Amino acid sequence: MTTPAPFIGIMRHRIGIDGEGVTTLAAFHGCPLQCKYCLNPSCHGLVEVCRTLTPEQLYEEVRIDQLYFLATHGGVCFGGGEPLIRSDFIVRFRELCGPDWQLTLETSLYVPTENLKSVLPVADYFIVDIKDLHPNIYQNYTERPVDLLLDNLKYLSQNFPTQQVMIRVPLIPNYNTDDDRTWSVEQLMAYGFQNFDRFEYRTDIAPKDSYIVHSQKIKK
Ligand code: SF4
Repeated sequence: MTTPAPFIGIMRHRIGIDGEGVTTLAAFHGCPLQCKYCLNPSCHGLVEVCRTLTPEQLYEEVRIDQLYFLATHGGVCFGGGEPLIRSDFIVRFRELCGPDWQLTLETSLYVPTENLKSVLPVADYFIVDIKDLHPNIYQNYTERPVDLLLDNLKYLSQNFPTQQVMIRVPLIPNYNTDDDRTWSVEQLMAYGFQNFDRFEYRTDIAPKDSYIVHSQKIKK
């Protein structure tokens, strides 16, 4: 039996944010990074206040929107926190929902490569939040070395259709510049990625709100 997982939120009826069609966002607790402007600080908060669900319980809850999913080619987006630390949960969820729901994974890719490998057969779309690929900037911003992310980007580009990957490349106040961001995009294009979402973090609003302002989605 798959281990139950803690969730910081389950949000229904999202359109145009987490992939194609009408989507339910299921956000896991827990993340291995320590981003200075964390988009979801509750993922680092007390796990005791989270809802803990098995894949079966989550499926029973979200299937209420099955007609919307099927009519719009939508489905479930697993985010967080970091969803790929719960790769077994996601694989089991696919067994339950079948092949027709779109499963989107919104991830930093900062997980063991084995976790990434295990979800590739069940994923339809990836949204990858890279922060910045420059080693010093990544370390300063996330408090982790960039090497694991680079390994996983390479693995993803070689084993999953790159047209089904959107990579978020943020401008992060006090941490990177527009030139740094352009350099990151060039590295990503060298891997074969084609879709980029360039945006800027807003640091003038409270942490409980989103730091993100989307500005440009670019398909190279
Ligand atoms: S990857 Fe996302 S959830 Fe994790 S620390 Fe960074 S912003 Fe927060």
